[in-house]
Amino acid sequence: MHELSIVSYVMDQVEDICKEQNLTSVASVTLEIGEVSGVIFDYLADLWEWTAKKRPLFTGSVLRQEEIPGVTFCRNCQRTYATVPQGITCPHCGSQETELITGNEIIIKEIEAE
Ligand SMILES: [Zn+2]
Repeated sequence: MHELSIVSYVMDQVEDICKEQNLTSVASVTLEIGEVSGVIFDYLADLWEWTAKKRPLFTGSVLRQEEIPGVTFCRNCQRTYATVPQGITCPHCGSQETELITGNEIIIKEIEAE
């Protein structure tokens, strides 16, 4: 239930922001989602629609999703490469001493509300 917890988390965050700013209706929320975060975009959109019906602030709101590409840094040769489809093995030197720099995050980029 990874996606459902993401939807709940994002809606909680947006709700807090709307309370602070006296906003009562959300039109859209734009999320930036890492390519290797494991989130299934279609599934997230379905859950958003379903959950929005139970939370008045989000009635009729749209979820927009933008993908952040996965980038991995190699500690051995100090270079970066696209995580997909290479995975943890550096294509430059073959080392596995690598770490993901971007691609695993979920960020609220923009909220349209009134
Ligand atoms: Zn390398």
